[in-house]
Amino acid sequence: MIDVNRRKLVVAAGATLAASTIGNPAWADVAGRKLGYAIVGLGSYGLGRIIPQFKNCEHSRLVALVSGDPAKAKRVAAEYGLAERNIYNYDNYDSIRDNPEIDIVYVCLPVFMHAEYTIRAAKAGKHVMCEKPMAISAAECEAMIAACKTAGKKLMIGYRCHFEPTNLEAIRRARSGDIGKLRYFRSEHGFVQGDPSKWRLKKKLGGGGSLMDMGIYALNAARYMTGEEPISVFATEHTDRKDPRFREVEDMIEFELEFPSGVIGSCMSMYSANQNHIMLMGEKGRIELEPGTSYEGNRLWVGRGRENEITPPPGPGKTQWAAQLDHLSQCVIDNREPIVAGEEGLRDLRIIEAIYRSAREQKRLPLRA
Ligand code: NAD
Repeated sequence: MIDVNRRKLVVAAGATLAASTIGNPAWADVAGRKLGYAIVGLGSYGLGRIIPQFKNCEHSRLVALVSGDPAKAKRVAAEYGLAERNIYNYDNYDSIRDNPEIDIVYVCLPVFMHAEYTIRAAKAGKHVMCEKPMAISAAECEAMIAACKTAGKKLMIGYRCHFEPTNLEAIRRARSGDIGKLRYFRSEHGFVQGDPSKWRLKKKLGGGGSLMDMGIYALNAARYMTGEEPISVFATEHTDRKDPRFREVEDMIEFELEFPSGVIGSCMSMYSANQNHIMLMGEKGRIELEPGTSYEGNRLWVGRGRENEITPPPGPGKTQWAAQLDHLSQCVIDNREPIVAGEEGLRDLRIIEAIYRSAREQKRLPLRA
């Protein structure tokens, strides 16, 4: 079913992230102050990408760290001016419940840890931002959503592209009819994996291979660019199992999504080539992004080929990460649901499970709305 209202919200939220603060008594303690984030996992994304972004935020600040490496945590705390009492480890993590400075926990851990650390955060009375993919399985996603609901806490998934200006402009162009009736979507996402001992190449730790890590960008983009939910999927996997990197997880996987309007989505992910590309074809032209979902330097063309580049200028707006962090803070302040709540992560995981099953059984599978 076409969820146009939700898609409108996505676009609107990207354009007007500075929403007003509503005086709701239940949330009054957070109104008028920056919300405090604890970052769990000081790896390449948590430490390298998220932590430096708080300086660009209006409604969010970094207040605590959770890490298994005390020396690293101490060094990072000193660099960002955090109190040493706000450094936690995986054992004393639950005691964040006694720290009123922490409003939101941001889970930046390997995928197999997402459910546990989200549920423990909710039980400790904290709102949660959890990285993509939301969890190892749809069943885990359901448990995370239930835990946050029971605790009365917000749950948002780190789908940063919903806040990225090039993607937002592409969505707007697709909806405005610039390329006529949409017929076809395609996206390839991948990068070259190296060290076979990394968690992303272990089935139990990553939940799968390139599809979980990179194919999810193509899948999520197929949904937010078309504004529709797919009704069926057919997938094929290509993996050299003799390659030590791919003993446990897939390298290449292709999946075709069928949408209710007749749009066909053709997606692929891989762990043996670098690619980051999104294209929409309509009856009157095409919208193309390359790279489409990178941290920086995304480019956008609209027309018949690449003659008409309309990449939005960087401008003074927030970065995609600052907008993402502030969106959850603003949702907590206003007591409203994030545009990429847990249910959005669950939808992707349900489709991902169907993609894996389709590849195994070599059958087109229907998807529930
Ligand atoms: P990473 O390997 O660089 O960091 C993982 C962190 O978890 C490290 O600090 C590591 O010490 C810690 N950790 C704790 N227990 C561990 C264990 N048993 N095995 C391995 N590490 C353990 O990973 P990353 O690239 O920072 O990814 C973290 C999360 O962020 C993942 O869910 C990933 O999908 C997501 N991510 C999202 C984006 C994005 O653009 N949204 C980009 C990169 C990563």
